Amino acid sequence: MSQAFDRDAVERYARQLVLREIGGPGQQRLRDARVLIVGAGGLGSPAALYLAAAGVGTLGLCDPDVVALSNLQRQILFDGEDIGRLKVDAGRERLGAINPLVQVDSHALAVTAHNAGDVIAGYQLVLDGTDDFATRFAINAACVAAGTPMISGAIGRWTGQVGVFTGRPCYRCLVPEIPADAETCARVGVVGALGGVIGSMMALEVIKWIVGAGESLNGRLLIYDALAAETRTVRVGADPDCPMCGVGYSAAPGIGPT
Ligand SMILES: [Zn+2]
Repeated sequence: MSQAFDRDAVERYARQLVLREIGGPGQQRLRDARVLIVGAGGLGSPAALYLAAAGVGTLGLCDPDVVALSNLQRQILFDGEDIGRLKVDAGRERLGAINPLVQVDSHALAVTAHNAGDVIAGYQLVLDGTDDFATRFAINAACVAAGTPMISGAIGRWTGQVGVFTGRPCYRCLVPEIPADAETCARVGVVGALGGVIGSMMALEVIKWIVGAGESLNGRLLIYDALAAETRTVRVGADPDCPMCGVGYSAAPGIGPT
């Protein structure tokens, strides 16, 4: 099963190769996978670290920012030496040091409604770890148009959520318009470890999807209340009036976990 991997790779991935749901075939699917991470922040950091370590063959890192001191509280992809460097450059180095078998492609740009389609082109899955609604909407629109599954995460204060959207319902079925009271972590704060929890769940949903293991969060939203130490999972209904997928919906059929 794993003859496609050399001795070092077999040792590197030993704990996954023994898993019934991954094994040699799953590891090959991980190696052949192309996953884009938008936002190398509190969510993108742990997700990127775990996906690189797991052997996802091609990882795209998309973020326009440089590393700041205030990032280090939660963005564990970086350290103090990286302050002032582009996140995609520092991140690519760090990921390469963890797993040189992974190719990391850098996109040092902000995703907008104009470029989102081009940025996600060529990727099988898109992980949205950004923290503003305009960017999330742009990524959602591009993913719906391309038929690309989107793993969405969000954190603020002590609460986080993660969901998977594939065509219909889409993220806009959940959030039709930008909320008037939209919060940002810069204003209301966030506990760094919460990014570790939700970012790791995003990475898990990616791995499950690629290898076809278990039940995807597709069409569902998992909400984690860290203060109460409780989670709940709700189904996201497809909104017939969704501004993105509701009217004239025509994304490719048959998209789903294989
Ligand atoms: Zn929708």
